[in-house]
Amino acid sequence: MIIIMKPNASDEAIQRVAKLIQSKGLQVHLSKGDEVTIVGVVGDKSKLRGSNIEISDGVDKIVQVTESYKLVNKKFHPEDSVIPVKNTVIGPDTLTVMAGPCAIESHDQLLSCAEAVKKAGATILRGGAFKPRTSPYSFQGLEEEGLQYMEEAGRITGLATICEVTSLRALSMAVKYVDMLQIGARNMQNFELLKEVGRSGLPVMLKRGLAATVDEWLNAAEYIISEGNPNIVLCERGIRTYETATRNTLDLSAVPVIRAKSHLPIIVDPSHATGVRAYVEPLSKAAVAAGADGLMIEVHPCPSCALSDGPQSLTFEQFHQLMTDLKPYAALEGRRIDL
Ligand code: PEP
Ligand code: MN
Repeated sequence: MIIIMKPNASDEAIQRVAKLIQSKGLQVHLSKGDEVTIVGVVGDKSKLRGSNIEISDGVDKIVQVTESYKLVNKKFHPEDSVIPVKNTVIGPDTLTVMAGPCAIESHDQLLSCAEAVKKAGATILRGGAFKPRTSPYSFQGLEEEGLQYMEEAGRITGLATICEVTSLRALSMAVKYVDMLQIGARNMQNFELLKEVGRSGLPVMLKRGLAATVDEWLNAAEYIISEGNPNIVLCERGIRTYETATRNTLDLSAVPVIRAKSHLPIIVDPSHATGVRAYVEPLSKAAVAAGADGLMIEVHPCPSCALSDGPQSLTFEQFHQLMTDLKPYAALEGRRIDL
């Protein structure tokens, strides 16, 4: 439940309400907006029975939050969150583009990608060092060696870096080298991993599971935030449907749905959603128009030589063109592309 304070409620009144809730063994989450303060309550609210909070000084009204996710719920935190990542931010005023190869394959491949995506206007370099491949015989990633290249690429270009972690072992290595962690679609409900990234102190991008509902996805985000990490970005990357013309089906409606239900930023990954290079550009534009806070795009110096996801990867030239084409779309939505 949330307690909405009156616009003129004093700090003392807010603290009195917070202390009363804590004294019953419940958790308090304050969200101070420009006008009103919302006191979010997490825990067994039956313990508050008889405490007459609704008539406490400064209280306007009490609203029940029926959804099982609380801290990621927009009702708890009506203002859109802005997530800091290295020297950039992800939020409602910016269009953040994360780009890079599907997998880190070599020092030169990653460094050339980093230079190219930076030049085109991306602010976050992506690259997988632990690859969750369908076949165990496919390239599995360079692991720590790849993370070292990532750290070097971030240092040289100034780009922030993001890498997927697929296990607790991968997480313990990645935290030493990258600025942001990615939980991939296949691990969206790996609850032990979610809790651990919640304790990592690094911002996390949580991809939607292959067949996850929006509610399941937001509950997965709740696992991370409930461990004390509010720096979460959601990523729509397509879901499984009967359609086979694209690798997955991009659920663009998830963008306004998430924006209505949660304060967390949402970015769109048209590369994994379609699996087809030619569809990345139109769906990037559509994602921006739908209200996405950013995009994740796979880029490779030689897509036909890529060890994974070549068919959906853009060349450097194609990525540069895409960024140029996106600028008026971003401007129309009132978003800056930070260069
Ligand atoms: C990726 O981003 O490299 C990836 C494997 O994506 P997903 O988890 O969305 O399949
Ligand atoms: Mn990929």
